[in-house]
Amino acid sequence: MNELNIRKEIISTCQKMEELGINQGTSGNISYRFNDGILITPSGISYEVLKPEDIVFVPFSSKKEYKGEYPPSSELDFHFDILKAKPQVDCVLHNHSIYATSMAICRMDIPAHHYMVGIGGGKKIPCASYATFGSSELSQNIIKALDGYHTCLLANHGVVTTAKTLKKALNLAVEVENLAKQYIMAKQVGEPVILSDKEMDKILEKIKFYGTKK
Ligand code: 13P
Ligand code: ZN
Repeated sequence: MNELNIRKEIISTCQKMEELGINQGTSGNISYRFNDGILITPSGISYEVLKPEDIVFVPFSSKKEYKGEYPPSSELDFHFDILKAKPQVDCVLHNHSIYATSMAICRMDIPAHHYMVGIGGGKKIPCASYATFGSSELSQNIIKALDGYHTCLLANHGVVTTAKTLKKALNLAVEVENLAKQYIMAKQVGEPVILSDKEMDKILEKIKFYGTKK
C-alpha cells in the first residue's frame, strides 16, 4: 500500500473503532509499519477531524526525529517497541473498550471461557502489569505480556491488538471486547466454566487454519 493510502486507512480505522462502540473521543491510537519507521496517530486529536497529513512518521533510528505538524501519540513507546520487536506484525491498535477495560481494571486475564480466546494466540488474553500511560515501563510490560500472544489487556487502562493488517487488528479488538462482555455477562448468571488446557491445545491447533483456504 502507498503512504497516502496507509494514512487514510489509519484514519478510517480510528473512525470505525468509534462507530463500532469500542473507543471514544481522543482515546486510543493506531500505528502502521512504513519503510524504516512507523506511521502513527497524533496525540489528543479527535478522529473526526484527522487529515492524512496529520498522521506522524517516526523513523526507527530516532523517536525524537518525527515528521509531522503534531507530536505523535503519547503511546509512541509501545507502538514503536512492538513494531521493532515483532517483524511479523505491521499494525498496532490501542483502545479503551468498555468490557475489556473493565476486566483490565480488575487486573484479570480473560480466561478460556470460549474457544475464540484462541484467536489471541494462546489459552487466555493476558493482562499486562500496570504502569502509567505513555511510559516506557508500560511499553516493557506490554512487550512481556505479548510474548506468544497477538493481544493483551493493559491494567487499569485498555487493550492492545497487533496484526499484519489494520482490518485484522480491528477485528481482533472487536473480538476481545466480545469475549470480555461474554465473560462478564456469564458471571451475572453463574460461575463461568473455563475450558481445560487439553481442550485449548486442540482448539489452538484447529484455529491456526480458521479463515484460511483449504
Ligand atoms: P493519545 O491521544 O496521545 O494517543 O492518547 C490516547 C491514549 O489512549 C493514551 O493511552
Ligand atoms: Zn490509552
